[in-house]
Amino acid sequence: MSEGKLIVVTGPSGVGKGTLLQKLLERHPDRILFSISATTRSPRSGEEHGREYLFWSREEFEGKRDAGEFLEWAEYAGNFYGTPKPPIDQAIALGQIVLLEIELAGARQVAQTFPSAKRIFIAPPSMEVLENRLRQRSTDSEEQIVKRLHHAELEVAAANEFNITIVNDNLEIALQQLEKAMFE
Ligand code: ADP
Ligand code: 5GP
Repeated sequence: MSEGKLIVVTGPSGVGKGTLLQKLLERHPDRILFSISATTRSPRSGEEHGREYLFWSREEFEGKRDAGEFLEWAEYAGNFYGTPKPPIDQAIALGQIVLLEIELAGARQVAQTFPSAKRIFIAPPSMEVLENRLRQRSTDSEEQIVKRLHHAELEVAAANEFNITIVNDNLEIALQQLEKAMFE
């Protein structure tokens, strides 16, 4: 890796990663490149191909995966998710800060392939609060919520593998901690 900096943000579904990163983007539109992942899950209402994700079919995803075109990839709650490699290599070479918002298995792969990446874990104040946030978001089926809460237990137990843990209780405080971790 050359001049640029790779930052990985991981945390259970519903913890508030998207909310925090959206605010970070509003505050620093020119400083950070947000990697757009590919996924085989269906778009939620309001999500657009090429903005939130590249919504690929399973065949398309598997083809790119087998051709080695992902920096990392994982299966999560029944779908594939992965980080396409070319835009990341390009941005790092240009000296940009590149941010990946990915789940635990992917974060572990990046720890192996890019040991210099800074890995930040976003934790919920409690599992009860996490479940409430997932339900209040009203985007996932009951089946998906159960799968996501199961993953959440495993993810929270792995928080000590990360360089920094930020508890997203008060949004503004968590945002300030995230900014400090990213730009220090
Ligand atoms: P993730 O991207 O980690 O899956 P989201 O950003 O979609 O999570 O947040 C899940 C829900 O929790 C959303 O409804 C969001 O508005 C809410 N939320 C996020 N951060 C906070 C916070 N600090 N306090 C209360 N609610 C929050
Ligand atoms: P969601 O379906 O809620 O958008 O995302 C589910 C999980 O997949 C989240 O934990 C999110 O961080 C993770 N994720 C999103 N994109 C990627 C990716 O490119 N790679 C990996 N490994 N996980 C991802």
